[in-house]
Amino acid sequence: MSFLDKLSDGIANTTKDLGNLAANATDITKLQYDKKVKEGELTRLYEKLGKKYYEAHKDDDMDDEDIKATTAAILRIKEISDELMEKKGGKACPKCGALVKNGSKFCSACGEKIDDIFEE
Ligand SMILES: [Zn+2]
Repeated sequence: MSFLDKLSDGIANTTKDLGNLAANATDITKLQYDKKVKEGELTRLYEKLGKKYYEAHKDDDMDDEDIKATTAAILRIKEISDELMEKKGGKACPKCGALVKNGSKFCSACGEKIDDIFEE
């Protein structure tokens, strides 16, 4: 094999290697993206499953720390929500949760008749 033939083969192999590297990098990027998408999907599925599990077992008499922590978080969110409504000058509509201004007779969001939530 002449020097020029060897040089020509070397260049061809280098070009092929670079092409393979580029294709491999593209595969890696695509696989990483697909993995992220699936991981996001899995997180949403776990969330949905967790809500179902919580709803099915929240009233069970069991000593589950996660159920207790979830119930505590829900109650705290409700407290914060009520405090926010109060600071905005009203209370949450018992039907839809929208802000009902103090003294209102109806919820402006859903039309629910408001009789007793402002009676102290
Ligand atoms: Zn409402």
